[in-house]
Amino acid sequence: MLIDKLYKLSPCPIYENNLMFFGGDYNEDKLCIRISGGWAEDNDRIVVLAHEVGHAFCHKNKCKCFDIKHGMLCEFHANLFALTWLYKQHDTEALYVCIKHIISQSRKLNHSMGHARAAKCLLRTKLWKKCLDYVFGKQTQLVFDWSK
Ligand SMILES: [Zn+2]
Ligand SMILES: [Zn+2]
Repeated sequence: MLIDKLYKLSPCPIYENNLMFFGGDYNEDKLCIRISGGWAEDNDRIVVLAHEVGHAFCHKNKCKCFDIKHGMLCEFHANLFALTWLYKQHDTEALYVCIKHIISQSRKLNHSMGHARAAKCLLRTKLWKKCLDYVFGKQTQLVFDWSK
């Protein structure tokens, strides 16, 4: 299964628990990713895992977003490095799931503003275009229109 493959490729250990809420975080003291809700859909777990791997990447590379604790920048970087990670693995399936999630997040203006703004910024990056081309090929234009 796709999610199992990603678990194996994660740069740091992952701990799961079955709390009733769903989400995840990167723990900078214990250098691990925690994901709640092992019962959740694989696609949701892929999105959370890739995002937290992005945070882990920033931490490992002593990125400025960790020092200044700038929410928007942290969330922007997490998505940016999540996509970079999946792109490097040529993981079309996981990229597709994450692209869809980021598009829907970019539209949620009333809800979790930081995440929505971070997602919106990502839609303007070269990496975003590169990932869309990779996943959708000739249909990229279609997706661009759809994501407005
Ligand atoms: Zn960062
Ligand atoms: Zn985050």
